[in-house]
Amino acid sequence: MAITCTATRGKSSGTAGTRPDGTRQSRTDYRQLRFRLSHLKQLAVKPPTLEWQTATVDRVWVETSRVKSFRLAVPGFGRFKPGQHVDVRLTAPDGYQAQRSYSIASAPDGAGTIDITVELIEDGEVSPYFHEVVREGDRIELRGPIGGPFTWTAERGGPLLLAGGGSGVVPLMSMLRHRTTSAGEPVRAALLYSSRALDDVIYMDELDAISASDPRFDLTLTLTRNRPPGWTGKTRRVDARMLRDVMERLGRPALSYVCGPTAFVETVAGMLVDEGLPPDTIMTERFGPSGT
Ligand SMILES: Cc1cc2nc3c(=O)[nH]c(=O)nc-3n(C[C@H](O)[C@H](O)[C@H](O)COP(=O)(O)OP(=O)(O)OC[C@H]3O[C@@H](n4cnc5c(N)ncnc54)[C@H](O)[C@@H]3O)c2cc1C
Repeated sequence: MAITCTATRGKSSGTAGTRPDGTRQSRTDYRQLRFRLSHLKQLAVKPPTLEWQTATVDRVWVETSRVKSFRLAVPGFGRFKPGQHVDVRLTAPDGYQAQRSYSIASAPDGAGTIDITVELIEDGEVSPYFHEVVREGDRIELRGPIGGPFTWTAERGGPLLLAGGGSGVVPLMSMLRHRTTSAGEPVRAALLYSSRALDDVIYMDELDAISASDPRFDLTLTLTRNRPPGWTGKTRRVDARMLRDVMERLGRPALSYVCGPTAFVETVAGMLVDEGLPPDTIMTERFGPSGT
């Protein structure tokens, strides 16, 4: 498979140069390039061939006005790692099929069920189906677990830096749930979570509860669009100063996981490289095109 690599121009990349044909060219930022090469190595891991399975929808619940979670009973589903996802396939009566990926939100507990959390994209094909059509008792096709590098289990250790934008918090929640239920003292962990508004924060109560009971967990919420009156948390997109603040409390992360809209992931991962973290300790998962 041919892989092409594009270097992105970072903040410190300096001025543009000139190609032999006279056209302008950005100077390569080698820190960004190293990150991109390490990401391509992550992509190069070939997934195993997986069979489609039938899952039964065990439970449906509302997380926020735009987000629902689904508990799926999947007999014979392989043991998964936090961070992995499943592919879901819908088939219309005329044979038309649509397939999308959804991260597993639950921790591996051997219960024969997995939870997925789906944000409604109004003009989408699959997420509106989940929100408007899927009911308890329905059957859907899925395959998984899928994904290698973007996984964390307690043996991998920490300190662990998790950065999520929007529904990008889903696989990070699986990691946090696994961390909480694993034997021994949990590794130090920080979640930096960017949402548009407080009402859009998924798993709010659970995150609050972990934060209140676990001194080794640090939660930073930032609301990029609407803030409720009296909000004292962060109010801007994730930036280098915010990451530095988090890392000061956490300590230098041994592993970082960044997940969310493509622009969020590119920006945050680039900033972590700029902060001097080795690119191969930064794992990324891109969910879609929009920004938070
Ligand atoms: C590995 C992986 C894991 C994922 N896990 C989750 C998850 O846990 N929860 C979740 O809600 N989504 C997740 N996604 C995104 C999901 O696969 C779909 O892309 C999303 O649900 C939209 O599908 P759709 O059919 O409704 O929209 P589509 O019909 O695919 O797209 C409709 C419109 O929405 C835009 N769009 C597509 N995806 C997004 C997006 N994610 N954000 C904003 N705009 C978008 C498209 O450009 C298009 O304009 C994951 C994606 C990947 C690759």
